[in-house]
Amino acid sequence: MTRVAQCHCGQLQLSCEGEPYPVVACHCQLCQRRTGSLFHIAAWYEKHRVVFEGRASQYTRDSGDAGLEMTFNFCPQCGTSVWWQSPRSEGPTAGKIGVAAGCFADCDFPPPTVSIYEKHKHSWIDAPEGTPCFKAGIPPA
Ligand SMILES: [Zn+2]
Ligand SMILES: [Zn+2]
Repeated sequence: MTRVAQCHCGQLQLSCEGEPYPVVACHCQLCQRRTGSLFHIAAWYEKHRVVFEGRASQYTRDSGDAGLEMTFNFCPQCGTSVWWQSPRSEGPTAGKIGVAAGCFADCDFPPPTVSIYEKHKHSWIDAPEGTPCFKAGIPPA
């Protein structure tokens, strides 16, 4: 299955092949500010399964709660933050591309496999029953 993520204006598009893993809900304050929403959901894909179209500008943020510097790719025309490269060299996102799940605008998109930084979670939001939830980042295995 191929799903297409796009920015608000449609200029920047990513065609993503197969199922994402992991799908991460993050409630940290940087994600709240970046998205303008109350949390963000990242769908991770191996880079070779993603086809990029359109122009992107980059913003590199300082290390957040997780202590990782990250560079976000956004549409220079409408400003939507669409994708980023994992800064991690190990773990389930290593070498992968994170795509903002909301950019798929697909109500059947797979739900989060994990919910992180719940210490900043708004009280009325809950991950689906049975989702592993962490106060901060995913603890090292
Ligand atoms: Zn755009
Ligand atoms: Zn976050």
